[in-house]
Amino acid sequence: MKVKPTDKLAFERMQPGAITAQGFLGNDIRPPEEIIAEDEQAFARLGLDFQAVADALEGLRTAGERGLGEPITVGKLLVQVGDARGMLPCPYGDGLFHKNAVSARPADLPQEACVEGEDMLVFSDISIHLLRVHHFCQGLGSPFRLEPELLARLLSL
Ligand SMILES: [Zn+2]
Repeated sequence: MKVKPTDKLAFERMQPGAITAQGFLGNDIRPPEEIIAEDEQAFARLGLDFQAVADALEGLRTAGERGLGEPITVGKLLVQVGDARGMLPCPYGDGLFHKNAVSARPADLPQEACVEGEDMLVFSDISIHLLRVHHFCQGLGSPFRLEPELLARLLSL
């Protein structure tokens, strides 16, 4: 696949220490275009729609904000919205987003049994934007990766 110059710049901005300390790629060695292509296939296989998932995550964030920083039940999920501290630019250079952190996990799962990334989604406004506009769920091992299987599981609860 041909990598466009803007994508090369975005790739550099996804590295640790550029926009965020941890970056957006985790320990994934695939280029973003490949991550996006494989996650698009996973979305199709799971019957997920990028816009609908982004809308659902925004809905969880908005509902979770009523907890004022404490976990609250939203449907069958327990959602916690942390403080927004500052803004982050999109690696693709098309916007600024609140640096917040939202976590969502099954409400009936005890916290000690909950594994981040397997049972719990962690995301922020920039994660929702990356998913909606760029179809980028972030690299494997990124703390903010939106794993398609986990999205399908939690959003269908
Ligand atoms: Zn963007």
